[in-house]
Amino acid sequence: MTPNEKLAELMFPDVKLTPDHFENIYPPRQCKEGARITRIAPSPTGYLHLGVLFTAMVNRVTAKASGGVFYFRLEDTDKKREVEGGAEDILSGLNAYGVHPDEGFVAPGEIIGDYGPYRQSERAGIYHVYVKSLVAKGLAYPCFCSEEERQAAREKQEQMKVRTGYYGEFARCRSITPEQAIERISLGQPFVVRLRSPGSEERRIVFEDMIKGRIEMPENDEDFVLLKSDGIPTYHFAHAVDDHLMRTTHVIRGDEWISSVPKHIQLFRILGFKPPKYAHVSPIMKEDNGGKRKLSKRKDPEAAVHYYAEQGYPADSVMEYLMTVANSDFEEWRRRNPKATRSEFPFNLKKMSVSGALFDINKLNDVSKTVIAEMDARTVTKAVIDWAKEFRPDYYALLSRDPDYALGIFSIDRGNPKPRKDIAKWSDTPDYTAYFFDETFAMVDELPENILPEDAAAILKAYADVYDPNEDKQQWFETIKSICPPLGFCPEVKEYKKNPDGYKGHAGDVSTVIRLAVTGRRNTPDLCSIMKLLGKDRVLTRIKQTELGVNP
Ligand code: GLU
Repeated sequence: MTPNEKLAELMFPDVKLTPDHFENIYPPRQCKEGARITRIAPSPTGYLHLGVLFTAMVNRVTAKASGGVFYFRLEDTDKKREVEGGAEDILSGLNAYGVHPDEGFVAPGEIIGDYGPYRQSERAGIYHVYVKSLVAKGLAYPCFCSEEERQAAREKQEQMKVRTGYYGEFARCRSITPEQAIERISLGQPFVVRLRSPGSEERRIVFEDMIKGRIEMPENDEDFVLLKSDGIPTYHFAHAVDDHLMRTTHVIRGDEWISSVPKHIQLFRILGFKPPKYAHVSPIMKEDNGGKRKLSKRKDPEAAVHYYAEQGYPADSVMEYLMTVANSDFEEWRRRNPKATRSEFPFNLKKMSVSGALFDINKLNDVSKTVIAEMDARTVTKAVIDWAKEFRPDYYALLSRDPDYALGIFSIDRGNPKPRKDIAKWSDTPDYTAYFFDETFAMVDELPENILPEDAAAILKAYADVYDPNEDKQQWFETIKSICPPLGFCPEVKEYKKNPDGYKGHAGDVSTVIRLAVTGRRNTPDLCSIMKLLGKDRVLTRIKQTELGVNP
């Protein structure tokens, strides 16, 4: 045994396996040529950031389009960040938006795949095998520096105005011989394991990022930590081992990791692994005071994916919107292919924004209105009821009192070739449908200025006498027209326009008055359908009550 091998043995006496063992049990995947293996690797914080959903979506689309695999790995080495049930929350968040992993954590309580464990805290044995082999080859070494010593070194570097970090002459434990290290470990001194970096700041590393293009950076020369004193790996080390053994071909992740790429590529090479291809996703940005900044967990409620559920955006709307953020030509494609599934879109990592696309809630609302307009009444009704059950119990009570009535409400102006596009999210609906329930009916709008209150009263009185709930849409409008002449209103708009001074208004004004009386609003979906649904008694009561209360 060489001194380094002896040292490795002392550091990891329980480790009997070698890297070959894992190479054999996790063989290269049998996928078709060009298949991309991607992953999302969150920490179990329970908080699903819109950026993580976005990155997961990009990973999934990339894998799916190539006939590859998209898997979920849990990076739970930092116990301080762990929240109970945090992994499940993130996973159900992804599932709710259709970003289903094929492998690893696929659903709460369900982990599948041949490349596991998919939870880093269960992989300690694997990491130790690889660290041991690096130590045995002299490519990694134990470092005994205490936190105080590290702090003092940092301060010295600051005073000297040089880069802080554990490198070159500042890498104190690098020069400790294996024999000395053996002695210190035998004395029970705690240690971390550091990489013996072969890099130099003078040399450059170049790599091709699939989103950002060619990137050149100084090589890594830091002897960064691979294993902490408690035997838990750092992110850098764990992800390299995992991405290799899980046979990841494309690492698509947030661009906060881009500065770590020199470390990562170095690590892959030293471990004898083929580095994956990298694609660093720019964060979703937000306009703030004329500038641009990252969507922030702390400042922006819309940074949390949960916000969209609470607001009642259908998952489909959010995903359609995120696709427009991912590839700006998605919108044009969608216009040309309104019925196609998103997976048919020719997604390309290279078309993603390099600087970070701007989050635009108005755009999301527009996209969502189109998505909701395309839904049938049953789908909408169920979605609204489900949403209300969770977020608006008062509204849920109204809707669930009579499910057919609820279905009737959401059937109005839906399912025809030109459906109304006026609901962006389910939280718009309590107000939008308020007049269908006596409990929430209220006079929201005022009588238009061109209609005198006494004329409005006369209109309602006249209409109450002729109103017939059995009329179809055409008859309904004929009836409205029929009351116009005696009241001094013109039944035909065209006619009225020729001679506006000859009339008090036209049939449209008359129906506005009725609309206002029945719904409390000047603008609603098809009034005839609304009245049919409200039913004769309710309509007449409102017409009569409003007749009394119409004066300002
Ligand atoms: N656990 C890391 C994170 O959540 C994963 C980064 C990666 O995808 O490599 O930021």
